[in-house]
Amino acid sequence: MTESLPRNSMNGSIVLFGPPGAGKGTQATRIVDLTSKPQVSTGDMLRAALSEGSKLGIEAKSFMEAGELVPDDVIIGLISERLKMDDAKNGVLFDGFPRTIAQARELAKIAEVSAVVSIEVPDESIVRRIVGRRMDPETGEIYHIDFKPAPESIINRLIQRKDDNESTVRNRLKAYHEQTSPLAIWYENQGLLIKVDGEQTIKNVGDEIISKLSAR
Ligand code: ADP
Ligand code: ADP
Repeated sequence: MTESLPRNSMNGSIVLFGPPGAGKGTQATRIVDLTSKPQVSTGDMLRAALSEGSKLGIEAKSFMEAGELVPDDVIIGLISERLKMDDAKNGVLFDGFPRTIAQARELAKIAEVSAVVSIEVPDESIVRRIVGRRMDPETGEIYHIDFKPAPESIINRLIQRKDDNESTVRNRLKAYHEQTSPLAIWYENQGLLIKVDGEQTIKNVGDEIISKLSAR
């Protein structure tokens, strides 16, 4: 069956919000299929810059490896360039952006946000999700050693992110609670926040996101 969303939730951009490992990237694929909005993941853009060895990558490297946020001006520069591209004119699906109030304020100046989907997962579950996360470099598909095992035939090409270790994840959670989570209230006050229980199966989380987006 082809899924669809009503017209009003198709206008503007959608933000996927939540702690590291909440399932933003996992759910993004389904929302992209549904809305045809391109996924804009600042984490993926930074990792691409890092592997190219560009100036941006060099600037971001130490922050990412320490599990700290990359400075706002760097991120805002990156996003404003991305939003100038043709495919962004009907809105995008932001994944991992904005992560500070300053980033959200800048975003409000350059794009319309129509909904912020907050995937809620407690800290106790986050570490296990992050440490078990694996990625297929050929397709970009995200797997988990226990929760979403990859097919046997591709297991030996899977990669693990350098920052997906227990000590970095503690810093990422600290950064999330101190700098990012206040954004939930900021967006709630604007009537844009949609809360979703992120501790269900991947399919059920996606179903809840779609039914709540459709009800808007
Ligand atoms: P996760 O999927 O675990 O939430 P991301 O891939 O979104 O991680 O981000 C990885 C790292 O990239 C972050 O720990 C941070 O250093 C940097 N980063 C990504 N997006 C942002 C952002 N919007 N603001 C600041 N730093 C960011
Ligand atoms: P984020 O983009 O928010 O950092 P990911 O989508 O990369 O998170 O998911 C983090 C890890 O948790 C991945 O290994 C993914 O397979 C797994 N995962 C995602 N959603 C769920 C879920 N609902 N239940 C169990 N594991 C999940």
